This record gives sequence, structure tokens and C-alpha cells, in this order.
Amino acid sequence: MSSQKGNVSRSRGQKHQNAVAFKNDKHGASVQVKKATSKVHDGLCQHCKGVLEWKVKYNKYKSLSQPKKCVKCSQKTVKDAYHIICKPCSLQLELCSKCGKKEDIVVPIKSCLDKREQEEEEEDKKEHKREKKSLDDLDSDDEDFAGCDDEEDDFDRDSGPK
Ligand SMILES: [Zn+2]
Ligand SMILES: [Zn+2]
Repeated sequence: MSSQKGNVSRSRGQKHQNAVAFKNDKHGASVQVKKATSKVHDGLCQHCKGVLEWKVKYNKYKSLSQPKKCVKCSQKTVKDAYHIICKPCSLQLELCSKCGKKEDIVVPIKSCLDKREQEEEEEDKKEHKREKKSLDDLDSDDEDFAGCDDEEDDFDRDSGPK
């Protein structure tokens, strides 16, 4: 009897530990999955989009750890796994980023690429960071203004184009 009571309290402790460990595991996985599934396969033809979506679906999609070389501009600007052409080139030449063929692009590349990329990374961090970032933006705006050479010059121009 008394030993049973002891068991009960012990199992309670274990249960708690298990819950924590499980949560951690789940959290780590969900972030990765979320990242992969939230990936927008833009700048791709129907075929390549299908291939990448398949990879994501079956957990075969591996993101790049560092940018790859674009076959068009030879810059390390390819940020998406399996792509061979960077987005600016793909956009300009109207080529599929993955196979490099002149195909119909299913999801057009948006102009705010870098912003989206940053937002994705920021999701891993806290919302605090995002708040701080918007403050930074304001700061840099101010700096731009102050950096406009002389204030007098600015004043002069004020009567003009502004
Ligand atoms: Zn390029
Ligand atoms: Zn393609």
C-alpha cells in the first residue's frame, strides 16, 4: 500500500519531465517544417514548382546554408536550394530559377525579396526583435536626413522640388 503511494508520486514527476522533453522536440521540428512549408516557390515553372513542393512534402527539401553561384550573373546570389539562377536574373530574363528554361512562371517573383527573407529569419527570434528593427529603420531614416550634407543646402532645396 505505502509503496504504491510512493509510486504514484514518482510517476507524476516523470510525467512532467516527459511533457517538457516532448514539447521541446516538437517545437524544434515544427519550426523547420513551418519554414519549409511557408517557402514560396516563386520564379519557377510549373514542373520545377511541383518538384520542390514534392520535396517539401516528403521532407526532402534541404535549404541552403550559404548562397550558391548564379549561372547567369556568376554572383553568389542564389539563396534558394535547388535553384541555379538568382531571383533578379530570373525576373529579368524571365527564366525558371531552377531549370533555367524559358517557361511560364507560376508564382511571379515579388520585388520585396530581401524583406521576405528577413522576415522569415526573424520568425525564429522574438517579436521584440521585430519591434527593435522598426525602431532602427526610423533611426536610419533620421540619419539619412542628417547626412544630407549641409542643412543650409537642404533648406535651399526645400523651396524647389520637394
Ligand atoms: Zn543572377
Ligand atoms: Zn523549371
